Amino acid sequence: MPIRFFNTYSREVEELEPRDPAARPIRIYTCGPTVYSRAHIGNFRAYIFEDLLQRHLELRGYKVHRVMNITDVDDKTIRGAREAGIPLGKFTAQFKEAFFEDGQMLRIKRADEFPAATDQRYIDRMIEMIGALISRGLAYQADDKSVYYRINRFPNYGKLAHFDLTQLQSTGRVKHDEYDKEHIGDFALWKAWDEEDGDVKWDSPWGPGRPGWHIECSAMATALLGDQIDIHCGGVDNIFPHHEAEIAQSEGVTGKKFVRYWLHCAHLLVDGQKMSKSLGNFYTLPNLLEKGYTGREIRYALMRVHYRAPLNFTLEGMEESRQSLARIDEWLQRLREVAEKENLQPASAVDGLRRGERSTPNPPPPWTGSAVANAQRPTQKFEEALDDDLNISAALGFLFETIRETNRAMDENDLDAASAGAWLDWWKRINTVLDLEMEAEIVVPPEVAQLAKERENARREKNWKRSDELRDEISALGWEVRDTKDGQKLTRRGAA
Ligand SMILES: [Zn+2]
Repeated sequence: MPIRFFNTYSREVEELEPRDPAARPIRIYTCGPTVYSRAHIGNFRAYIFEDLLQRHLELRGYKVHRVMNITDVDDKTIRGAREAGIPLGKFTAQFKEAFFEDGQMLRIKRADEFPAATDQRYIDRMIEMIGALISRGLAYQADDKSVYYRINRFPNYGKLAHFDLTQLQSTGRVKHDEYDKEHIGDFALWKAWDEEDGDVKWDSPWGPGRPGWHIECSAMATALLGDQIDIHCGGVDNIFPHHEAEIAQSEGVTGKKFVRYWLHCAHLLVDGQKMSKSLGNFYTLPNLLEKGYTGREIRYALMRVHYRAPLNFTLEGMEESRQSLARIDEWLQRLREVAEKENLQPASAVDGLRRGERSTPNPPPPWTGSAVANAQRPTQKFEEALDDDLNISAALGFLFETIRETNRAMDENDLDAASAGAWLDWWKRINTVLDLEMEAEIVVPPEVAQLAKERENARREKNWKRSDELRDEISALGWEVRDTKDGQKLTRRGAA
């Protein structure tokens, strides 16, 4: 079965047919953070879903080119900077940095590009697109000097959200500050400068001002990925008006279908309720790290529910995640021990398995023994579950079934070294999607970190003797330091 996804646009499960599979990678655009505060775990649920999407496509042999934008100018960022009394760029920089830190902690694969809305290159593109929309009668400048999209003129407006425009007209109440728009649903493409904006402004043919949030994404997506992109993701709360507006803007300018597959991640609830600071159930990543959870455990907790189902995040769920990971860790440890034991198979066959040599890309691993003879082979099942609209819950179900069966075989001394090696190989393959292995999360003890810092200074001063002494001291504490082009790397000695 081919890979298939539920497309919000058609409301149907559709097979993935990349436009030009041979020549080009799959182009994915994902709405990134608005950097006015630290992202919360609900945001990261969506980013982990997108991470899973990319990794699974890559496991299946696709090349992926993914762009995630950074919204660093909008009402909230401007308000935040004003309240903090610092320039917008300085205000947003701290949250950008925090976003990347958190992403790394959660092992989220970096997008290929992270365009920022305030980059002049994209501001120019936004202005160009707005100009094109005006010339096509799809946008107008109102008395307040702002430019609005004329939604009545775009016949498909409302299609993504399955939203009836006439209903909006009949029931929509016009707010007094929107008096100069032609239609209540018309959204701002260019917001005319006002005093509240301070020095945040760019020149445009319509006077000084700043872009609306929606046009930022249309401009960055089409500038970096072309007029037509394969997959566009976001949270369900992005569907309307944000993604609806992106379609109207992009297609209004290019005349081409903007996105083939729209994928949206459901909400995250905490203790069954919407997260909010006033309810005390609002979590950022550092909040959870302070409670003693690791990035890996949080990654698992945010990943384990199918992306279209609401995820109810609880601390009990965190404990379950911790236990699930411990089961994986113990299983891997056992497999490694069996794989290293005396080898009943011809050495060459095992070596072949270890090196990942296979006659087919995805063979069933060598089950042995009666306990598992009739077991379902989860090798394909894991990947087929993910093919099916990224059904991670089913995929993890197969993983734990495998763990149960192989553990039983090991209990009965019925799993030979070659089989254990093959299972470890299988894990290595699926872990390119899950990224849940423990080793990567070694915590460097402070005294080792301190020595490493001193060594870095010594090397900067070209004090090689001191650098070597420090290496020995680090080594005496059980750690190994390597010098790479990205600086020093610490590994625990004897760790795989
Ligand atoms: Zn967006």
